[in-house]
Amino acid sequence: MRLTFFGIGYVGLVQAAVFAEAGYQVMCVDIDPQKIENLKAGKIPIYEPGLESLVRENVASDNLLFTTDAQEGVRFSPLQFIAVGTPPDEDGSADLRHVLTVARTIARYMEQPKTIVIKSTVPVGTADKVRAAVDEGLKERDRIDLAFDVASNPEFLKEGSAVADCMKPDRIIIGTDNPGTEQQLRELYAPFNRNHEKIIAMDIRSSELTKYAANCMLATKISFMNEMANLADRFGADIERVRVGIGADPRIGYHFIYPGVGYGGSCFPKDVRATIRTAEADGFDPVLLKAVEARNELQKGFLVNKVLSHFGGDVRGRRFALWGLAFKPKTDDMRDAPSRVVMEALWQAGATVQAYDPAAMTECRRIYGDRSDLALCDTKEATLTGADALIVVTEWKQFHAPDFQAIKLALREPVIFDGRNLYDPMIAQRHGLEVRSVGRKRLA
Ligand code: NAD
Repeated sequence: MRLTFFGIGYVGLVQAAVFAEAGYQVMCVDIDPQKIENLKAGKIPIYEPGLESLVRENVASDNLLFTTDAQEGVRFSPLQFIAVGTPPDEDGSADLRHVLTVARTIARYMEQPKTIVIKSTVPVGTADKVRAAVDEGLKERDRIDLAFDVASNPEFLKEGSAVADCMKPDRIIIGTDNPGTEQQLRELYAPFNRNHEKIIAMDIRSSELTKYAANCMLATKISFMNEMANLADRFGADIERVRVGIGADPRIGYHFIYPGVGYGGSCFPKDVRATIRTAEADGFDPVLLKAVEARNELQKGFLVNKVLSHFGGDVRGRRFALWGLAFKPKTDDMRDAPSRVVMEALWQAGATVQAYDPAAMTECRRIYGDRSDLALCDTKEATLTGADALIVVTEWKQFHAPDFQAIKLALREPVIFDGRNLYDPMIAQRHGLEVRSVGRKRLA
C-alpha cells in the first residue's frame, strides 16, 4: 500500500516512519526544502527517542521517501494524509491556512480518486471546509468527475514517546460517514490493531471534537491540581500528600494529577484556546475552559513569584541556574514552554540565566540567539557556578537525584526552586539546602 503525508513535523514524520516500518511505502511532502534535504541525508530535525534509526532504516529500504514536489506527492498514492501545523491565529482560533492549502494542492494535481485523511488537530467542521476547497479546485479544472472523500483521523501521540505511541496506539479514531472509507482506513491500521480492538469509528464531527476534548480534559486535570497546589501553599498543606490521598479513589486515579508550573508545548495551550474560540464563535460561553486557561497562565508565574519574594522583590544583577528548557522531558520542543516564561520574567527583572537541557539547547539557541543574559551550559553542574539559586523547570530523569552536596557548595544561596516537586525537602535540608516547591509547606 502507498501513502502520502503532507507536513513532516512531529506528527507527520513519526507517523510516516511508523507506517513505513509496517511495510507501506510512504511519500513525505513538506514545503521546507532544508528539512527535506536533511531528511534525505538521514538528519532528523527533531529529538524523539527511537526516531532516528527508524527513519534511517526505512529511507535505506525505500519505504520512506521525501520530496518538496507536491505534485509528486499527490500522484503517488490514493491516500493523502494532511499533518501540517494548525497554529493559533491572532485571536487563538486554529489557523487552517496550511490545511486548506494542502486541500487545494490535492485538487490541483489529482488524476485518480483520493481519500484525504485529516491528521492535524482541527476544529469541528474543518472536514467540510476541506471538502469544499477540493470541490472548488476540481471545478476550476473542470474535473468534477474525479471522486474523493475526506476523513478525520486525529493523532494522539505524546512528544517524548511518539514512536512508541504510534507503534502501539491506545486508540485509533476513524471519523467518516462513508463505509468504504472506514474499510480502507481499517485495512491501513490493521497492523496496529492486532492485539485487541483499538479502532473506534464514528462520524466526522465527533472525531474532530474527540481530539479537542481529550486535550481539554488533560489540561483541566493539570489546572485543577495547580489550583489545589495554590490552596495547599496558602493553607500550609502538602499537595503531594493530597495527590496521593485523592488518587487512591479509582474514580480519580493517579494518572496525570501532578502539580507544577503549568502546561506548555505545542498542543494543550493551543487546543484549549482553539476550543474556547470555536465555542465562542458559535455563541457558547465555555466557562470551564476559560478558567483552565486562566489558571495555567497564572501558574507559569508561580515560580518566578517565589523567586522574587525570596530575594525581597529585587533580583537585579542576580544569576540563576535553570534546569530544563523543553516543555516536558524527552523532547526538544520549547513551544509555549514554562521555561520561557520563567527566563523572560527573570531577564525583565534584571537577572541573568545559566541554563541546561539534555535535548533543547539547539532549540533554545534558535529561539533566543546570542544574548548577554543567557548562558547555555554543557552540563547541569556547570549552570551552578556563581549562581545565586537553582530553578528546576522540567522533570528530566537526569534531574531526579542530583548531588545535593555539590549544589550546596556551588550556589551562593542554598535554595532550590523546584517547579516539579522532584525533591524531598527533608532530604535536601539534611544537605543544608532549602527547597521551595509547588504547594508544599516550607520546612521550619
Ligand atoms: P510541526 O509544526 O512540527 O510540523 C508541521 C509541518 O508542516 C512543518 O514541517 C511545515 O513545514 C509543514 N507544512 C506547512 N505547510 C505545508 C504545506 N502546504 N505542504 C506541506 N507541508 C507543509 O507540527 P506538528 O507538531 O507535527 O503538528 C501537526 C498537527 O498535528 C497540528 O495540527 C498539531 O496540533 C497536531 N498534533 C500535534 C501533536 C504533537 O505532539 N506535536 C500531537 C497530536 C496532534
